Amino acid sequence: MNIKQILNSNQIGESVKLSGWVRTRRDSKAGLSFIEVNDGSCLKNIQVIAPNTLSNYESEILKLTIGSSIEVNGKIVESPAKGQSIEVNAENIKVFGYADSEEYPLQKKKTSLEFLRSIAHLRPRTNTFGAVARVRNELSLSTHKFFQDRGFVYLNSPIITASDCEGAGQMFNVTTFDLSHIPLTDNKEIDYSRDFFGKRTNLTVSGQLEAEAYALALSKVYTFGPTFRAENSNTTRHLAEFWMIEPEVAFNDLEANMDLAQDYIQTIIKSVLDNCSQDMQFFNERYDNTIVETLSHIVNSNFRRLSYTQAISILENCPKTFEFPVAFGLDLQSEHERYLTEEHFKEPVIVYNYPKEIKAFYMRLNDDDKTVAAMDVLLPKVGEIIGGSQREERLDVLSRRMQEINLSLEEYSWYLDLRRFGTAPHAGFGLGLERMVQFVTSLGNIRDVIPFPRYPEYCEF
Ligand code: ATP
Ligand code: MN
Repeated sequence: MNIKQILNSNQIGESVKLSGWVRTRRDSKAGLSFIEVNDGSCLKNIQVIAPNTLSNYESEILKLTIGSSIEVNGKIVESPAKGQSIEVNAENIKVFGYADSEEYPLQKKKTSLEFLRSIAHLRPRTNTFGAVARVRNELSLSTHKFFQDRGFVYLNSPIITASDCEGAGQMFNVTTFDLSHIPLTDNKEIDYSRDFFGKRTNLTVSGQLEAEAYALALSKVYTFGPTFRAENSNTTRHLAEFWMIEPEVAFNDLEANMDLAQDYIQTIIKSVLDNCSQDMQFFNERYDNTIVETLSHIVNSNFRRLSYTQAISILENCPKTFEFPVAFGLDLQSEHERYLTEEHFKEPVIVYNYPKEIKAFYMRLNDDDKTVAAMDVLLPKVGEIIGGSQREERLDVLSRRMQEINLSLEEYSWYLDLRRFGTAPHAGFGLGLERMVQFVTSLGNIRDVIPFPRYPEYCEF
């Protein structure tokens, strides 16, 4: 049994075997050692009582340091200590490995999240990173549950792609060229025809276009995989490698898309509150004493929906001065987004119908000919959590839009086929998993909610 199961079972008098890592050891004069053990199954440690009658008490137990790994066989007994109902009386303790207290960096003293980032291979042994990993796991599990319960098909979109979802400039190239001898054409341009795939390829920035192909056959699909952006954004909300969840639904319009986004966010947050209450209590005590209340409120109230035009008018008329200008036609910066959700409405906000010039070509043109059926979901603290839209399903409008921005109709002919043959209204969105973990745990930096973060000039481990 793992420690979570033992603590929940409460089977006084039963024999158990448990394994884990020592968090603390305290020796009493009465010839007993109290060892707190954690195995990551939950935040709580279990207390193991080791009597000096154990054969290896002097030789091994008294040498156990923080971080040592052990296996314990013993009996569950009621605990006289406060804060725990049971403990384990050890009958036998096996030591797998010690951790030198001079060298092992995780001692009892407080450390900073920045320092822990530099030992990302050991930080999962701390309370914070154990809790982050379990909450992240719950968000992933409940994501699959949410979509599977509603008849969606899980789609594995490609990691290496030849299509560029939004526009060049922010993608990682995939190549097998010897970079010191790159083949050139007669015009001195890079000769991609001699590269592995015979063309220029990159790591995907989004699985959306492929998901559209499957939505226009299976009706409801979702992707859940890694995505890559080579944008040089050194912020607390951007990673170069992150995980995105992208549902795509045939026959949905923008309103149905907003309903789905709200339902999805509320459902996975509720799962975390229901199934990770110990970890959430920890974040509430240690990082943000309003987080559980905030999350509970979000689960139970509708998100505020307003058009981009309404958002601009609120921002133009608000008392706050912003670093970036506000005007119809300009994109909302993160300071604007955060003002709307954190200060003005103080709840999640969905902004829809953005000017076509600042949004991607595949978003459906509205009847006003100026705006497209786009939507962004904004959350306090993290800002944009979802970007989505109803897609342009009309072949003539889509082709015209692509020509306007000089996209090659030939390169995207497969995408246009989806409109040529049995086109249908459809809509979808992308949610960044790390931004969600960041929001739910209330940790300030996105680099602390993915096991091994990658960002500009940093790719360790
Ligand atoms: P932002 O404006 O915040 O940079 P974006 O508009 O470029 O985001 P989209 O292309 O709409 O992002 O991607 C969909 C979602 O993926 C975003 O709403 C966000 O949750 C997440 N996301 C985007 N870029 C990153 C990144 N670099 N690191 C982590 N998550 C990201
Ligand atoms: Mn976006």
